[in-house]
Amino acid sequence: MTADDRITAMHGAGGELMDRFLRDHILTAFTAKSAGRIGLDALDDGATVNLPTGGELVVTTDSHVVNPIFFPGGDIGRLAAAGTLNDLAVMGARPVALTLGLILEEGFPLVDLNRIIHSIAATLDEVGVPLIAGDTKVMGKGELDKIAINTTGVGTTAHAVSDAAISPGDIVIVTGTIGDHGMALLACREEFHLETTLESDVAPIWPLIERALAVGGIKAMKDPTRGGLAAVLNEMASKSGATIEIEESNIPIRDPVHGLASLLGISPLAVANEGKAVIVVAADAADAVLAALRAHPLGENAAIIGTVTAAYPGKVVLATAVGGRRFLEPPLGDPVPRIC
Ligand code: MG
Repeated sequence: MTADDRITAMHGAGGELMDRFLRDHILTAFTAKSAGRIGLDALDDGATVNLPTGGELVVTTDSHVVNPIFFPGGDIGRLAAAGTLNDLAVMGARPVALTLGLILEEGFPLVDLNRIIHSIAATLDEVGVPLIAGDTKVMGKGELDKIAINTTGVGTTAHAVSDAAISPGDIVIVTGTIGDHGMALLACREEFHLETTLESDVAPIWPLIERALAVGGIKAMKDPTRGGLAAVLNEMASKSGATIEIEESNIPIRDPVHGLASLLGISPLAVANEGKAVIVVAADAADAVLAALRAHPLGENAAIIGTVTAAYPGKVVLATAVGGRRFLEPPLGDPVPRIC
């Protein structure tokens, strides 16, 4: 058995390597992968199940192992709730219910668990979503690092929004500043001890997405979590065969994120966001969608960052702030491990 025959951190890092791993080792094993229009093999934010009464049920699941479990702007509980709610939201689905699977390390402080559970509850209350099922397991001391949380979400929609239905002429919008979660996590890691005011953007964004959906004209949505904006744009481009052309200077990025990114040599475009969405809209709806987003506190920094063209099928082109043009490559994985 060589090193290539074992799981590495990159297999769960949300980039090209994880994508290949999922296709070669998971998807291939199952003959049936769909219960509706969008199945597992679409590798979208969620899958759809046709409802006998019409419309679609959207199902998504996510496990969270973030380190540290308490970080500036949030904790593993808020992340586990918001992460799954946001995958429903970017499928265009109103979240209906959540489940909670807890795996705890023997000796984990009850006071920390209480904090995490109350954080999950508060996050669900923000969007009026009930917790309807759960499971708890305990592993021996040293068999797990503190806590792992799985959440499954279900939502409903008349017609789910995929991440691939984009075409030349469409406009690309981000709902706010990019790189906050990944950089805040990096800054607070023990190995860095960096003094910073950075906070994670972790938040449930359904109230924001609902406004955009009400305007109409939305072609595709995705939440830029692991692998960040770069991964999500490349996924949209490669799945649709279209080109996404981005104006770097139009991407909203906070100064401290820029500062830390250049200090550590990590691109803010390749790290996770936990309270943002990339929305591709028809050109004639772009201004109205942008205005609707900016009218909500979670979308006050929303911006148009680019357009969809046919210039380089499946690729993302970045017009840089200094006047050059280059392909924005999909990251092999998020440069920051255990980010969510
Ligand atoms: Mg997602």
